[in-house]
Amino acid sequence: MVPLKVSIFVWRLGLNRIATKDNLFKRRVLTDVEQGCSANCGLTEDMDHLFFQCDFYGKIWTLTCSWLGFSIAFRGNLMSHLTQFGGLGGFLTKVRYSQHIIWIAVVWVIWKERSRRIFQIKQENIQTLCERVKLLSFWWLKSKYITFDYDYQFWRLNHILCFSCLVMLLVSVFLRCAQFFN
Ligand SMILES: [Zn+2]
Repeated sequence: MVPLKVSIFVWRLGLNRIATKDNLFKRRVLTDVEQGCSANCGLTEDMDHLFFQCDFYGKIWTLTCSWLGFSIAFRGNLMSHLTQFGGLGGFLTKVRYSQHIIWIAVVWVIWKERSRRIFQIKQENIQTLCERVKLLSFWWLKSKYITFDYDYQFWRLNHILCFSCLVMLLVSVFLRCAQFFN
């Protein structure tokens, strides 16, 4: 289950009401020249750039998709991106939900890294950030599904099997119910 503070963040993200630099500029908190992306890519930090268009932060999506076994060119805005990413899980609700959990983990990791770079003048490498995505999604899925009974290393190496087991469990419950009522 996604923590409340992360859920609130995603809700605010959907409304474009998070404190990206372009929003801070509109509120006159920052000046025009202070709107640069924290990854030093030379472009202005707005919501779509930071999460879906930046070459640097975009590598987290690329590595995450590589882990998931996909190679795809995403659209550069929130709703299209979320729809595309969720669709990678197919039509089964549990798998699609799991994909959304991973999507949320990526945007949260990007946001935390962006803040770390701005306020702590520290930075992590892309591999470390991608590992953080795997770890967060593992804990959030584990707290969501009581049947998600895997350890972290198994999840890292066999996420497809973990997804499959969630689906198979659903099928077995359905079959047992069908047997019960027959
Ligand atoms: Zn950038």
